Amino acid sequence: MITTTITTPSAEVISNHVFAEVLLNNASNQKSLHARVHFAPGDVICNFNAGITQSYPTYLTVQTGTDRHITLMPEFLQYINHSCSPNVFFDTTSMQLICLQPLQPGDELTFFYPSTEWDMAQPFVCNCGSKDCLQLINGASHLSVETLSKYRLTDFIKSQVKQKLSL
Ligand SMILES: [Zn+2]
Repeated sequence: MITTTITTPSAEVISNHVFAEVLLNNASNQKSLHARVHFAPGDVICNFNAGITQSYPTYLTVQTGTDRHITLMPEFLQYINHSCSPNVFFDTTSMQLICLQPLQPGDELTFFYPSTEWDMAQPFVCNCGSKDCLQLINGASHLSVETLSKYRLTDFIKSQVKQKLSL
């Protein structure tokens, strides 16, 4: 008799942060941040600060200026993954995490990496499942102005786009 093992993806809560929790997907070993409460578009989910500020990007940093990349405080914000249909936005001017789409408890928080990253250290192929998935995510500098116009972008990225257009 042939038996097959059916593995069902399961996730465990790693840490709790009042308005959100970090989940670990045991199948993929990926961590993600999920809402614990409701948020509406425009809501400030939380404030954030720079942990370390450095001159080069890593997979953990968010870009705040030319040669300026920060690690996030609170640290669990690093588990907000990319989506091409993001539901949150890192405003690096006001240093606020802003809700873009209605969030219910349990929903995964996602942001659009090119909304903060001009040229990414580690480009990747996206599997976000959005109908508008851009597939290769490598930073705003690689995207058309038309594509970028569909997204909320940081003041830094907007200034970079402006500069590129005037060249
Ligand atoms: Zn995608």
